[in-house]
Amino acid sequence: MIDLRSDTVTQPTPAMRKAMAEAVLGDDVFGEDPTVNRLQELAAERLGKEAGLLVVSGTMGNLVSCLTHCQRGDEMILGDQAHIHLFEAGGISALGSIHPRTVPNLPDGSLNPDDVVGALRDPANLHYPKSRLLALENTHNRCDGAALPVEKMDALGSLAHEHGLAVHLDGARVFNAAVALGVPTARVVRECDSVQFCLSKGLSAPVGSVIVGSKAFIQEARRWRKTVGGGMRQAGIIAAAGIVALNEMVDRLAEDHANAKRLAVGLADSPYVDIDPGRYHTDIIYFALSERSPHSAGAFLARLKERGVLVSQPGGTKFRAVTHHGISESDIDTAVTAIAAAAAS
Ligand SMILES: *Cc1c(COP(=O)(O)O)cnc(C)c1O
Repeated sequence: MIDLRSDTVTQPTPAMRKAMAEAVLGDDVFGEDPTVNRLQELAAERLGKEAGLLVVSGTMGNLVSCLTHCQRGDEMILGDQAHIHLFEAGGISALGSIHPRTVPNLPDGSLNPDDVVGALRDPANLHYPKSRLLALENTHNRCDGAALPVEKMDALGSLAHEHGLAVHLDGARVFNAAVALGVPTARVVRECDSVQFCLSKGLSAPVGSVIVGSKAFIQEARRWRKTVGGGMRQAGIIAAAGIVALNEMVDRLAEDHANAKRLAVGLADSPYVDIDPGRYHTDIIYFALSERSPHSAGAFLARLKERGVLVSQPGGTKFRAVTHHGISESDIDTAVTAIAAAAAS
């Protein structure tokens, strides 16, 4: 199977398995796992922040970050296509009593600064919740995997700070953003007070995300991590793979981006597929069946599976394909042929 449903299907590399087997461990709830501590320091350094915290998943990283920034009843501004808003089971509200205030995501994954200002609440008016946090997402999953340029990150970040809001980045794929933009990851997140990134996606580690921020922020986040049941004991077994991910798997993301572009360009040749390959610059592409294709979405997916290729349909009429470690250029060529054939009459 050529599995393009997600970059989460990646398997740990042999170097990761070796590092996991040999990891020196301790009790991380006591702060005594040297391998976890090393990963957290490395992550903080790569993102230009003071401290880091290993968490179970991206969802937990975002939740713990939002819980740390916001009090009960505070309001958080975020894009209407944000992963936090659409795909995290409403955790900020269900568990955090945080009030979401959405503004429309622009096609490039960013937010219109005027919309953000328009969403701010007058703190003197007791009818309103307090505006506390702005959350951004980079790369933006639902917005074609777009990498938000540094200028937009800086502008939205300083705007939020001018109005007394903190800034959190859902950076599940922030290393993809940095590689696509050709700038250091720390530069991308300079205006962010906290960042969550996933080790378990394109970086190919089996489990885990890291939150980074100031020392004071991470100290408080550590308490919330415990609250939501995310305090792990000999977690160095996970962190060991994360260290390999950060040291060995970041630069190669460029291959995934080139493969995604190859897939998009290849699919554009099929009259049965609708896609604008110019839109895609990272590991994610979206495509639709053209009007000429006689197949329903379900029939198309079944026909594609028979040809040995999997893609996802994450909501709406579009299909998503994500490239990752283990998918080669020739897999891409096979996938182009299979998708075109499955879409054709
Ligand atoms: C995958 C993802 C998450 C959540 O990560 P999990 O580890 O699956 O919980 C958060 N934000 C974005 C943009 C993602 O793509």
